[in-house]
Amino acid sequence: MNILLLGSGGRESALAWKMSQSPECSQLFIAPGNGGTGAYGKNINLNPNDFEAVKALALKEAIDLLVVGPEEPLVNGIHDFFANDDELSHIPVIGPKKEGAILEGSKDFSKQFMARHGIPTPGSRSFTNETLEEGLKYLESHALPIVLKADGLAAGKGVLILDTISEAQAELKLMLGGKFGNAGSTVVIEEFLTGIELSVFVLTDGENYVILPEAKDYKRIGQADTGLNTGGMGSVSPVPFADQAFMTKVEQEIIIPTINGLKKDKIDYTGFIFFGLFKVGDQPLIIEYNCRMGDPETESVIPRIENDLVELFVATTKKKLKDYKLKISPKNAATVMIVAGGYPGEYEKGKSITGIDNVRNSLVFHAGTSLEGGVVKTNGGRVLAVSSLQDNQFDALQSATGDAARIYFDGKYFREDIGFDLM
Ligand code: AMP
Repeated sequence: MNILLLGSGGRESALAWKMSQSPECSQLFIAPGNGGTGAYGKNINLNPNDFEAVKALALKEAIDLLVVGPEEPLVNGIHDFFANDDELSHIPVIGPKKEGAILEGSKDFSKQFMARHGIPTPGSRSFTNETLEEGLKYLESHALPIVLKADGLAAGKGVLILDTISEAQAELKLMLGGKFGNAGSTVVIEEFLTGIELSVFVLTDGENYVILPEAKDYKRIGQADTGLNTGGMGSVSPVPFADQAFMTKVEQEIIIPTINGLKKDKIDYTGFIFFGLFKVGDQPLIIEYNCRMGDPETESVIPRIENDLVELFVATTKKKLKDYKLKISPKNAATVMIVAGGYPGEYEKGKSITGIDNVRNSLVFHAGTSLEGGVVKTNGGRVLAVSSLQDNQFDALQSATGDAARIYFDGKYFREDIGFDLM
């Protein structure tokens, strides 16, 4: 099969690494890819949101399967574009159509979906510019802290947690006034949860699903989870507190009602669903859906899947997941993200990276890198994901952290405490 993977992050590196191992995969194209994905296939420099360019490539290379890594092309309707085009409609797509991707594309829609299908989630109300006054009044008697969420995609920056009512009121005005552009034209005000977070993933064919290994990611830039939020500084899988009893609850109360809800709402969904969960006591609650895999969770999840990923994707597109048996490694995976100095604020690009060959017990998944004249250089905030799969959690954490220390570039930074809070 000729496979086209859209995206350029660490998530796509892990997907490409795994797909390239499949005997089913004759050619793999990664568009645009990064400085490392060329090791698994051919990088093609195009913008995944330029659907005409994706079409031209799919026809030129006789693509048999499209796998979409990031959310934006899905929310913009790349699956619909393929399904509605006579020349492309025979190409199956991993990733939902617009009507399914809206679970991520609109937090207001997803909260209504959860409410409609009885899926446990913190209480919330949504407001627009027309109901701003009502929203300000609603905030006056709201418990603290207050969670404000821009409805649409805001590059991971659309969630604000405010400690006072006046700050929340000021932010509500700013958000509805255009702080996040159109993404903030509706704002969800949500009850604040105190608990521990984890990410659960399924791959669904619209009828059935397989549950992938769960993971926990670390969002803050600083050690001990302090400082600014980032795209993710590391992850671990499995998650010790997600024991069997808890995961059964997640399946019964969240996963099954979601799949059934999609069916009831006549949303034909093919692809990943990412459940952003809180564990409050023994109870799972969902705070968000994503319509794709997480990054850096993927870098810890994929190495634990022992099945042929291409075979799994084909079974998904053929709606044959019913009796599919996933083989999950009992080993522990840990991922440490190496980032550019200054990230998530301003940072420089173009720094030469050395030491990748010195890594001993880990996989190195490139994220924000480029290859220039044979030299790997930094090309983004999150630069490399170092992932280690070991017999126990401590060894995985130690190997990933130790190997991250063997890589060097000017300004390099990584957290040395990823996962150690769970030990
Ligand atoms: P999101 O963009 O929805 O992933 O939210 C970003 C982060 O905000 C989450 O990972 C949580 O740490 C935090 N967060 C979101 N919703 C809530 C909530 N209802 N209660 C507490 N923290 C939240």
